[in-house]
Order: sequence, then C-alpha cells, then structure tokens
Amino acid sequence: MPAPLRPSASGPDAGALHLTFDDGPCRTWTPRTLRALADHDVQATFFVLGSAARRAPELVRAALAAGHRVELHADEHVRHTERTRAEIAADADRALATLDALGASPRWWRTPWGVATADTRAVAAERGLELVRWDADTHDWRGDAPATMLAAVARDVPRGGVVLAHDALGPGARRDGCDATVALVGLAAAWARARNLPLLALPDPPAAVVRTRGMELAA
Ligand SMILES: [Zn+2]
Repeated sequence: MPAPLRPSASGPDAGALHLTFDDGPCRTWTPRTLRALADHDVQATFFVLGSAARRAPELVRAALAAGHRVELHADEHVRHTERTRAEIAADADRALATLDALGASPRWWRTPWGVATADTRAVAAERGLELVRWDADTHDWRGDAPATMLAAVARDVPRGGVVLAHDALGPGARRDGCDATVALVGLAAAWARARNLPLLALPDPPAAVVRTRGMELAA
C-alpha cells in the first residue's frame, strides 16, 4: 500500500492532485503535453504567458476544449519585485485581455517565479484572482530526468497538492526541450492512480472568503 500523503495546507482539493504547467503555450511542447494528458485521461492547469498566447492562440483554445484550465502567469516574465504596482497591473491586464478573447476566464494567478509583493496582492484582489504557488517542484527546467522528477513529487506533494512543471522553455531554463516533462505526465498519472488520486485541473478558488487586513473570514 502506498503511504498516505499528508494533507495539503493550501491545496484546494484534498481528493486530487493538480499538475500545472507554466510559461506556455509553445508550438513545440504544448501539443505534446496535451497529447500526453489525453493519452492518460488526466487534466491539468496551464499558467500561460499572454505574449505566448498571442503567438499560439490555437493552443489556448485546444487546452480549453480538452477540459484543462488556462490561468494567468504573466504577459512578460518579469519579477514583481522589479515592477511598480502600475506595471504589475498593466502586465496582468494585457494578458487577461488576451486570454479573455480566447475564451479563458482566469481565477488563479501564479506570478513569475512565484514572486508576489504587496502590490501583487492588491492587483490580484482587484481582479478577483487567487494567488497560487506550488507544493512540489519538478525542477524540470534544470533538466532533471522523469524518474528524478517523480521522486521529488512523491517526496513533497501532499493530498490536494499542486505540482509545478513547464510546457515551454522559460527564462533560465537549463535544458533544450521539454520531453522529460512530457514523459513525466505518464509516470505521474500511474503514480497517482496507484494512490487513488485523480489528476485534475484546479477547481475554482474558494469564493466565500473575504480578506480583511490579513484576516480570513468566511463570508
Ligand atoms: Zn514562469
């Protein structure tokens, strides 16, 4: 019997695991990622760049048509610590306009490198976006092998947890392709199936939470 996983402190759905892919869409790697997800009958969440979505809009539509979620990463992949609030807002709005035109309605926001400032939180709140990072990092960007990535996920991910991977070569990537990430999809699907954990797209963020001066109050 697989060991039981600890519950996620932040995971939105304790009965599932959530694969997520950042930095796409990419005409080379996103179609292969989508095919792997379809082959294993699992669903995922794509945190896309608006700039990339304008170059490959058909891939955003394909992801949505396959039942995956398409959520906000950024328009330009810049750390929010290097941006003003107005710049963060303008970047998010540009990406959101692109995604809206393609039929996506983001509710989740994973910022570049998961870096969020007080300005990020304000911009997110104004737009009804829930910030999300990850529980387990595949480190696929540095060229880890699929089995190494699965071991990291198995070690780190809680029930309901969120797994970070990439379906494109983003800034700082130390590999020349995403084939290992594509291969990980099948390994992760088998691993999760053995634990009776479906791989699902993120659910809607909890809506009935009102945030007031750092306190969370159930509405
Ligand atoms: Zn990124």
